[in-house]
Amino acid sequence: MDRPDHLIWKKLLAHVQKRSPNLWRQWFEEIEPVAFDGGVFLLRVRNTVQHRYLQRDCAQAFTDAAQEATDRLVAVRFLAPEAEVRELEDDAAQEHGKNGSAQLIEARPRNATPRIGLPSGGELILNPDYNFENFVIGPGNRFAHAAALAVAENPGLTYNPMFIYGGVGLGKTHLLQAVCARILERNPDTQITYISCEDFITQFMDAVQVGQMAGFRHHFRDVDLLVIDDIHFLANRDRTQEEFFHTFNSLHQARRQIILSSDAAPDEIPHLEGRLVSRFKWGLVADIQAPDYETRVAIVKQKAKVRGVELPSEVAELIAERCHANIRELEGALTKIQMQANLDESPISMALARTAMGVETNMHANKATIEVIVNAVTEYYDVTLSNLQSKRRQRSIAQPRQVCMYFARRFTRYSLEEIGGYFGGRDHTTVLHAVRTVQSYLEQDPEFARRVGQIEATILSNA
Ligand code: ADP
Ligand code: MG
Repeated sequence: MDRPDHLIWKKLLAHVQKRSPNLWRQWFEEIEPVAFDGGVFLLRVRNTVQHRYLQRDCAQAFTDAAQEATDRLVAVRFLAPEAEVRELEDDAAQEHGKNGSAQLIEARPRNATPRIGLPSGGELILNPDYNFENFVIGPGNRFAHAAALAVAENPGLTYNPMFIYGGVGLGKTHLLQAVCARILERNPDTQITYISCEDFITQFMDAVQVGQMAGFRHHFRDVDLLVIDDIHFLANRDRTQEEFFHTFNSLHQARRQIILSSDAAPDEIPHLEGRLVSRFKWGLVADIQAPDYETRVAIVKQKAKVRGVELPSEVAELIAERCHANIRELEGALTKIQMQANLDESPISMALARTAMGVETNMHANKATIEVIVNAVTEYYDVTLSNLQSKRRQRSIAQPRQVCMYFARRFTRYSLEEIGGYFGGRDHTTVLHAVRTVQSYLEQDPEFARRVGQIEATILSNA
């Protein structure tokens, strides 16, 4: 059994990072290459959640990387934290025709494996990114986060059930899994069933069909924690609602924690039985609102950190400005930018980010300096630069100031802070607000759009 060459290991990691930036996580650097044996890299992972993530999502990427790093047909095997690798006696190894060989003993964990997911094989895999440490708190999710944390500290005793609702991609699943992860960290023996509502429905129907209701009930009722994600899918499912009603009562009476997420508040889920609606409100109902600009910037930075990406602040701001509907969009933009950086083999810059995100890059834009913009705008509105830089807020000055900010943002590479500073020491939220205001006028007011169009033509002809 050889210890893997450190350099090869570094190379392997670099390949994964480069080829699969969307899978890459900072903690990959903590994986321990324990052996290189018979063409197989044995890699030890520090915790079970990470181990499952690697096995499920990353096997191919690591195998490809191992082959690139060694230029040989090699394989990769992830070892669970508790697996032991024992070296065979040399004699024994020679009998096997090998020169020293690792024997892998897949040890069971000392404690019983936490039962997450389903007895019928489909084990639930928690996403290692979805923990409290990686969750960015902002005004839109502060309350839901606090509730989730409280439940994780004292399952069954604080809020039961905990019901979290909000739009798509706002962090419901993340919070649900963070609670599971935290509870398992504290007490690995906790019996958890975590399931999507759709799977709950399917399993219920299967159980009915094959007449195995006892097993089904055991699985959902004899647990410490039942988490059902996207419970709104119960809409219109009368029989499943009936079964869930009894599941709920049984757990609640036994003071077992129930956590539910939904895209709507309990009384806004269509075709949900009244008795379920009222039960969903017994504990704590918390909503999650779309993140504001600051929170989005913080989330992008957080995602970049987890992925080990060097992201300049202004690029994080650009992403946060462009993507406001939901957080998956932010992540998608980050992935595109990472891919572009790999392709160009260059660090992430504003220009690269704009290209990656397909943001219009006007041929003239690079030459449209702030002076050209200010000249065109001040001339059109008959104001002076010092008017624009003053504190005055009347419309005759505020509007040209906003138009300047809008063009500065579109045509120059200055950050929001820099633009705000230039126009009278204003902060970045003012600039952002100006850009948004101008954009919405452009959409709603054709006369305004025509005037701005004229100014734009002047800018471009002078650029
Ligand atoms: P939902 O279940 O509400 O549709 P998810 O929990 O799947 O949304 O979140 C979508 C993505 O956004 C996930 O990658 C998640 O990590 C991320 N996300 C959402 N909210 C936050 C937050 N407050 N901090 C960090 N990441 C977040
Ligand atoms: Mg979800």
